[in-house]
Amino acid sequence: MLDSSKIRTRKLYYEDAYKTEFTAKIVSANAGDIVLDRTAFFPEEGGQSADTGVLGGFRVADVKIKDGEIHHLLEDRNASFEPGTEISGRIDWQHRFSNMQQHSGEHIFSGLVHSTYGFDNVGFHLSDNEVTLDFNGVIGPDGIRDIERRANEIIFRNIPSEIRFLSGEEAKTAEYRSKIDLDDEIRVVTYPGVDACACCAPHVALTGEIGCLKVVGLQNYKGGIRVSILCGMRAMEVFFHDRDILEKTANYLSNSTDEVYHLVVKARTELAETKAALAEAAKKLVQVRIDQIPAGGGNAVLFEESLDAGAMRSAVNSLVQKKNGFCGVFAGSDADGYRYVIGKQGGDARTINNELREKFGARGGGKPEMVQGSVTASRADIETLFGK
Ligand SMILES: [Zn+2]
Repeated sequence: MLDSSKIRTRKLYYEDAYKTEFTAKIVSANAGDIVLDRTAFFPEEGGQSADTGVLGGFRVADVKIKDGEIHHLLEDRNASFEPGTEISGRIDWQHRFSNMQQHSGEHIFSGLVHSTYGFDNVGFHLSDNEVTLDFNGVIGPDGIRDIERRANEIIFRNIPSEIRFLSGEEAKTAEYRSKIDLDDEIRVVTYPGVDACACCAPHVALTGEIGCLKVVGLQNYKGGIRVSILCGMRAMEVFFHDRDILEKTANYLSNSTDEVYHLVVKARTELAETKAALAEAAKKLVQVRIDQIPAGGGNAVLFEESLDAGAMRSAVNSLVQKKNGFCGVFAGSDADGYRYVIGKQGGDARTINNELREKFGARGGGKPEMVQGSVTASRADIETLFGK
């Protein structure tokens, strides 16, 4: 219900989405919160962020609507104005036009989803960082790509928009998508043959002005999907950015952009194979070194640059068969620190682990027969600890 004590601000953006400059009469001005008799500033509404710009020479930080009354919140909360006087305003056109492009693109995309799958747009968010559309049904990547292509075809056809206000009676019979809570006016934005939707925001007059539409994200969301789109220059910026990365990568690989994916998969596969072969060789090398250690009493400690946890444990298991003291395997370097596994047959490896903790701040633990952990200490200090 509308509060009769409040005045309804005349929405100049309803009448002309392309109006950037206007004059209006100040209705009230409190601590940088300005209400006018009319405004071209679109407030935050229906999931879309507010227009930015200048009012009476001051930057507008935000614009909110309450019961039809539009509040302009100035960055300078101390700016003072006299009610009843005239003020001039100017919206940031670049910001507004981008919002009109994103928003109109959303209508086309949602209209196609609705006519193709019958799903509704149940959530819309348009900010300076992202544009997301939530649908109450699941469409796969191929289906989304098809909608994306068709949306761009509609953009290129340069279809003019039609905007009309419906009376209560007309609204009952008219066919249109309605996705927001409406006040007493029902404003329907139509791109003939594509979409008709009740909406309060400014839109482009011709679909060609959207420029292009690109889907930049698709995820499952609340039993349906969330699609991220970008239109116009915002889509182009993403294209420039992604194309740069692709070309840099192709140059680095000395190949064409078409080959990049195939080459990266190949390189990763080869890397995994090389790592596995290296690990196997390191394991064999450790075994050769263990074989050279004479059996008998005392401690034993081995250092390797890189050895995986499994190889370290099996090396310790081999060592404890030969030596009855503490048997340690350390992998790493003095600079980066070491991971370690220490075992002791018939004894308690935790005692030397405690010394590593106390002397060098090692982190680790385990059972009496085997402990593992990590430590930052020099090889010489560790060897001293093992009595080497
Ligand atoms: Zn709209």
